[in-house]
Amino acid sequence: MATPERRTTRSKRDMRRANHQKVAAPTIVACANCGAMMVPHRVCDACGHYDGKEIKKKKGATEEAAG
Ligand SMILES: [Zn+2]
Repeated sequence: MATPERRTTRSKRDMRRANHQKVAAPTIVACANCGAMMVPHRVCDACGHYDGKEIKKKKGATEEAAG
């Protein structure tokens, strides 16, 4: 069974692990309906639209009878 030729130093080990803590900036796009910044491929939190259609009613708005 293959074994490492030499021990990885604390420095090299820690440098390798340090790179996994980077945080990627979240992708944000402007809503096509209202222009609010939103996560792509999600129903807009501000206006409740997705793909040009109203998916969910805005909070506080009077709800009509759901069909
Ligand atoms: Zn919107």
